[in-house]
Amino acid sequence: MSLHRAWIGLGSNLDDPLARVARALDELDRLPLTRRIAASSRYASRPQGPQDQPDFINAVACLETRLSPLALLDQLQALEQRHRRVRARRWGPRTLDLDLLLFDDDVLALPRLRVPHPEMARRAFVLVPLLSLVPDLRLPDGRRLVDLVAALPDADLREVLPPEGGDR
Ligand code: AMP
Repeated sequence: MSLHRAWIGLGSNLDDPLARVARALDELDRLPLTRRIAASSRYASRPQGPQDQPDFINAVACLETRLSPLALLDQLQALEQRHRRVRARRWGPRTLDLDLLLFDDDVLALPRLRVPHPEMARRAFVLVPLLSLVPDLRLPDGRRLVDLVAALPDADLREVLPPEGGDR
């Protein structure tokens, strides 16, 4: 089983999102055959769509894993389920959203899994934290992250917590 590098986008706007994202970062480090090797600052942004809900907290993490892409997605979805509130309002705020953004330089178009994550190139709350961790990153199609960030409309994004000490 070879070692892969996977990038995960985290988001939450319910039930103490900062603490929830911090907990989820620890949980990512404890997934089987996986360790977390980096985490960005946390960023706050206004929700897209209905405004009668709290701000979102987002971050990006880098994992080293021996899991396959689908096995990693299974783990991420199980983690999301463990964070899900029983009576969460339908279409409402999210306790925890985990997106598999990138997996090595793989391009996947499976029924359950598209990589790179199809929305990532348009989302400031993904691109900005990612750029802070890997300024020279290119997507598998060759597009440079720095150019994608430059093309974003003015982002409503506030850095709310510096990265944890060291490389994590
Ligand atoms: P959402 O909760 O809105 O992020 O959507 C979750 C759904 O997207 C699940 O059914 C996943 O199987 C699917 N999906 C497709 N590609 C990805 C990806 N790269 N990361 C996370 N979920 C994905």
